[in-house]
Amino acid sequence: ALALGAVSYLWATPGVAPGFWDMFVLAFVERLFRPTYRKDDFVLGKKLGEGAFGVVYRASLAKKPSSKKAGDLVLKKATEYGAVEIWMNERVRRACANSCADFVYGFLETSSKKGGEEYWLIWRFEGEATLSDLMLSKDFPYNVEAMILGEDENLPKGLERENRIIQTIMRQLLFALDGLHSTGIVHRDIKPQNIIFSEGSRTFKIIDLGAAADLRVGINYIPKEFLLDPRYTAPEQYIMSTQTPSAPSVPVATALSPVLWQLNLPDRFDIYSSGLIFLQMAFPALRTDSSLIQFNRQLKRCDYDLVAWRKTVEPRANNELRRGFELLDLDEGIGWELLTSMVRYKARKRTSAKAALAHPYFDREGLLALSFMQ
Ligand code: ADP
Ligand code: MG
Repeated sequence: ALALGAVSYLWATPGVAPGFWDMFVLAFVERLFRPTYRKDDFVLGKKLGEGAFGVVYRASLAKKPSSKKAGDLVLKKATEYGAVEIWMNERVRRACANSCADFVYGFLETSSKKGGEEYWLIWRFEGEATLSDLMLSKDFPYNVEAMILGEDENLPKGLERENRIIQTIMRQLLFALDGLHSTGIVHRDIKPQNIIFSEGSRTFKIIDLGAAADLRVGINYIPKEFLLDPRYTAPEQYIMSTQTPSAPSVPVATALSPVLWQLNLPDRFDIYSSGLIFLQMAFPALRTDSSLIQFNRQLKRCDYDLVAWRKTVEPRANNELRRGFELLDLDEGIGWELLTSMVRYKARKRTSAKAALAHPYFDREGLLALSFMQ
């Protein structure tokens, strides 16, 4: 009882949400009542993506009269890391369902011809566009405004309005991240390609938990740095100090994780990536891969000091770049202040998702107020 008490106490530590036991109880109850699926239950549609660790398709249920329309699901066939991804999705569905794409089911498929094993993961099809697709359009951010408000706006286009739309996107992203982080999960692959616009809820949700780590139970405890996307990674690379003992047993990791969390602040890894997305939204010139890579090089030369970077580029900035700084400088530079609190060299100096949501940048009403102003 003492040991249980100690674990429960640790679980109440700030930064790590309570609700540890629900994981076991709810998992069991849910397993009893949720439908199960097999390979033959699905019809595959168009390929949506292919990475080093899996292929993603649109899909639908083969024989289900009540199935709404063809391709209302998404199927990922994953390699060995699929097991972790299923675990993460199950966990997210119970602890912070609104943060991520709606997960339906995951299972191990052993009958594949190559003799190997494949994990199949099924989600609801959330929508056609990722933030990356939307950001690469000439219409950004107005295309997002149209999707969120569902109608055409007649307000004059301009910096103020663009700032409100970007603010709304950032708020939704940080809200989803706060849900993950409060659950003890670090995503580690936050980038526009992994943020989907959910047409049902008209909000952005996070997808692709393939590189995620759950620090509360030590799942995927060893950083798989080779999985990370160098364009969006924070300078630390490893989310936990390399001093921390590697791969402890699950009970040990369970007991230690709130402490390790406070020591390492692993969530700040995702905050850095989110800051880069904020930057790309403000500066159209940084939205391509090559320009982002070039920016990363410049920032590294400035010792990851955004203020120093600004000093080097602003004097010889073209109109477009100047416009980005102007957007961030609105309302006494409150946007710039938030951005610089996210993109910092030291994880410890970066803001958290929860603190960012309370930042004055978000005090002003976002898109909704815009629609009432008409
Ligand atoms: P990968 O490991 O290939 O990056 P992702 O999980 O990121 O796999 O999915 C690849 C692509 O499939 C995404 O970029 C997105 O376009 C699409 N996708 C994934 N999940 C969904 C979903 N739930 N709804 C709609 N599209 C999705
Ligand atoms: Mg992805």
